[in-house]
Order: sequence, then structure tokens, then C-alpha cells
Amino acid sequence: MRLLMLAAPRAGKGTQAARLAAHYGITHLSSGDLLRKEVAGSTAIGRIAAAYLARGDLVPDELVMQMLVGPVRRAVDAGGYVLDGFPRTVRQAEEAYAWARQEGGVELHAVVHLVVARAELRRRMLARATAEGRTDDTEETIDHRLDVYDSETEPLIGHYAGRGLVVDIDGEQAVDAVFSDIVASIESARASRT
Ligand code: AMP
Repeated sequence: MRLLMLAAPRAGKGTQAARLAAHYGITHLSSGDLLRKEVAGSTAIGRIAAAYLARGDLVPDELVMQMLVGPVRRAVDAGGYVLDGFPRTVRQAEEAYAWARQEGGVELHAVVHLVVARAELRRRMLARATAEGRTDDTEETIDHRLDVYDSETEPLIGHYAGRGLVVDIDGEQAVDAVFSDIVASIESARASRT
């Protein structure tokens, strides 16, 4: 099983990806978490990525690809993945597709798009800023991250919709309801393909 989560910051990608990973016995790969680990460990990638994360800008594609190749390969060997936060641009999606074709195992089963209104996303991000003190959750960076999502990431929905992979889920429901909607959509998409 290979899944992508596609949603704006704070739409609930991380929470749902973790539950999907447990449900399907696949690996949860969060590019944001992996980047924060690189930054915390002050690795070669982390030292470059830190400033991008703090500003709410996207880290350069090459660095993200370089960081993910190993973990994705291991996840494929272990039965599949749910990718959370990657790809973030059409270019990343194209590069990932080219890479996956070489490796074998190119087929994605679904792209889960969590739909949450911008006002609700801002509210959630501000709430987390207070609760967790994440450095990319200041009011200014929050708006910037939402703009980056609209301009860079949102176009991916059309990209994957063209391949019939996107399932739209109402992300403003309670966490359990979002999860059961996702599983039901994945199963019906799977059934209609077989
Ligand atoms: P997230 O935890 O997914 O919200 O990601 C936090 C931050 O990590 C983003 O604001 C970006 O700076 C960076 N990031 C995460 N994933 C990617 C990616 N696929 N490409 C570029 N930057 C990324």
C-alpha cells in the first residue's frame, strides 16, 4: 500500500497518516519531521534546511529528495508507506515518479486530500503556536506557509486528479470521523480498480 497525504499545514495530515500507517501496517514518513530531526542533529542537510523551516519556505527539492530516498526505499521493502508532506511541489512529484519508475513499484493507491478552510487552518496553527512554541508558527510565518501551500502544493491536486487518484475528505470533522472516511474512500477506490 502506497499513500500520499495532500493537505495544507494543520489540516491533520500527521495525525491521520500515523493512524493509516498503524491500520495498514505501513511506514509513516513525514518530510517535516525528518527535516526537523536533521535540523536538531545539525547534519549537513539540517544546517541548510534550518533557515527555510524558520521562514516557512520550502526546503530545496534536491535536499528533500536526498533525505527521503533511503527511508522510502526501506518503507517499500517493508510493505509500503504513507507519505506526509512530500511531494510538496509538482517538480518534486515528477522527480519522485521518475525515481519510483527506476526502482519499480511506481503505483500509488490513493492521494488523500484533506479539505479544511483557511480560517480554520489559521486558528489551529495559532493554537499550536501557543501550545508547542514551534518556531514556524508565528502569525507572519503562518500566513506565509498557507500562501506557499496555495501557490506550490495545491496545484498537485490537479496533477494527481488527472490520474484518478485523489480522494477528497472533509477534514473539519472529528478526528475519528476523518479517519473512517479516509479508510472507506481508499477501500472503495481499491474495489473500483479491481
Ligand atoms: P510540515 O511539518 O509538513 O508542515 O513541514 C514543515 C516545514 O518543513 C515546511 O514548512 C517546509 O519548510 C519543510 N518541508 C516539509 N516537507 C517539505 C518538502 N516536501 N519540500 C520542501 N520543504 C518541505
